[in-house]
Amino acid sequence: MQNLTLTNQSVKDITTKPVISVNKLNHYFGKGSLRKQVLFDINLQINAGEIVLLTGPSGSGKTTLLTLLGGLRSAEEGSLKILGQEMAGASKNQLTKVRCQIGYIFQAHNLMKFLTAKENVRMSLELHDEKLKQDMDAIAISMLEKVGLGDRVNYYAENLSGGQKQRVAIARALVSHPKIVLADEPTAALDKKSGRDVVELMYKLAKEQGITILLVTHDNRILDIADRILYMEDGCLVDDGIDVTTKMH
Ligand code: ADP
Ligand code: MG
Repeated sequence: MQNLTLTNQSVKDITTKPVISVNKLNHYFGKGSLRKQVLFDINLQINAGEIVLLTGPSGSGKTTLLTLLGGLRSAEEGSLKILGQEMAGASKNQLTKVRCQIGYIFQAHNLMKFLTAKENVRMSLELHDEKLKQDMDAIAISMLEKVGLGDRVNYYAENLSGGQKQRVAIARALVSHPKIVLADEPTAALDKKSGRDVVELMYKLAKEQGITILLVTHDNRILDIADRILYMEDGCLVDDGIDVTTKMH
């Protein structure tokens, strides 16, 4: 990939301020005799501005970890700090505050098909009170222009292609300037070219806005956008992407 100047600049931009800090996190599903541990002793730190990819076989616990990190599921055992807020035992109010600073992109784009591209993006702004006074339409349109959909703002989501829908989902996730973006296999439903485009777009916007990205993927065609690649297996983080020699310094 020639059109992205990676590594040097992006590595320099990364501060050592952790936005995600996970310590001895365990997670279980089910109750009683059906209770099954799915995450084992996860330790992880992700710093501001890092683009981190999370890989591993199906069923290894990637989605579970991502939903815990996003405050979409409550942490039961261990510590999970997002943007300085401890998520284990946090109140609903505290969880909501953290969620407002996170953008989510899922495998299925989850757009409202009876809303236009612009209305889908606007909805995300409407959740942020402080933005209500501004011209939300103009903000939504400008974000759609950034993702190359300036000529599709009034199209209903159902009339857009897979790649276009996923670009609307990116616009929706980024329009409120989140500090963190969590993406779960965002290219899974896309062909090679659209998948690549979508990820390069996320990369570009994230670097412009200094956003931290954690992206789950099976797609080895996009691994080169990562500052760091994590690997999970059987509920364990077997590689946190940090070189052993770096850790010793
Ligand atoms: P991945 O995203 O890596 O494919 P998941 O996090 O979805 O893995 O799943 C990890 C394990 O947890 C799997 O064994 C899966 O069957 C189990 N699991 C996931 N979600 C649930 C749930 N809601 N209830 C019970 N078990 C679940
Ligand atoms: Mg998954």
